[in-house]
Amino acid sequence: MRELVIISGKGGTGKTSITAAFAHLASLQGGAMLCDLDVDAPDLHLLLSPEHNEEHAFRSGFEAVIDPALCTGCGTCAELCRFGAVRPGQGDDGTGWRIDALRCEGCKVCVQFCPAQAIGFTEKHCGQWYASGTRFGPMIHAQLFPGEENSGRLVALLKKEARTRAEALGLSLLLCDGAPGIGCPVIASLSGASQAVLVTEPTPSGRHDLERVADLCRHFRIPAAVIINKSDLNLQNSADIEQYCQEQGHTLLGRLPHDEVVVRAMVQAKCVTELPATPFSEALRSIWERIVHLEPKAAARPVLFQPKPNA
Ligand code: SF4
Ligand code: SF4
Repeated sequence: MRELVIISGKGGTGKTSITAAFAHLASLQGGAMLCDLDVDAPDLHLLLSPEHNEEHAFRSGFEAVIDPALCTGCGTCAELCRFGAVRPGQGDDGTGWRIDALRCEGCKVCVQFCPAQAIGFTEKHCGQWYASGTRFGPMIHAQLFPGEENSGRLVALLKKEARTRAEALGLSLLLCDGAPGIGCPVIASLSGASQAVLVTEPTPSGRHDLERVADLCRHFRIPAAVIINKSDLNLQNSADIEQYCQEQGHTLLGRLPHDEVVVRAMVQAKCVTELPATPFSEALRSIWERIVHLEPKAAARPVLFQPKPNA
């Protein structure tokens, strides 16, 4: 199965609009399993309007919870917690102790040392993930709750589900909207990918983050191909990016002009390729054809991110 991961490093480059348009174009050519791996702030669903067929809880890590019926109020847990997670004021009268879930690191020290065994240690419910249907095909996506961590583990879970279900459905393409940045969620996004598509823009921060994600792809031996979005905002910077791609051996898939059709499509919850043709959507169709015909890698990419089981 071919795995295409669209990433950008910097936010706001148009990655999701481009991914949604690719989902549309892929649906016209045999279809793809779609996957939104930006679990901290997903937005592909805004354009694809998925209908949830399945909803699952994502649990990862542990958190301490004080049982007020057992707690004697000795304060040992507050003294020992290095993260300031044990706070006063559990009872209605403001007495006792409670644990601030956002501060608790799940180290278990308070659990071990509570003389009354009043502290439970439960698996943390960090978010929800979904198997959905869209007008362009099946989609796997998720939403972490605000402030929750372990997004790399959730990304790995989504990719595993997406691969399994794509194989079951006989789909030969997995199309992923990758996580932003260059950290753990992006590494998990790229794990097993056969091709990374890097969306950038001709700004200093766009160029900076392009180099960072391109270096990440090189480190993990994943071929990178580049799209310059809003390329006419700064023609010199666009030319510099093209030169950079040439020097580094990254395929340049093409330039996209700045075009208000992107905003019009967003407002209508559609993809740009669903609206009447514009220079932007025509250029995007050409880029998609280039991607379809990129030489596939002979060997599957190594698995880069294998989440550890819960401790
Ligand atoms: S150590 Fe246990 S008994 Fe003491 S305040 Fe904390 S939860 Fe209550
Ligand atoms: S589990 Fe660790 S971080 Fe959480 S409240 Fe207890 S001592 Fe603090």
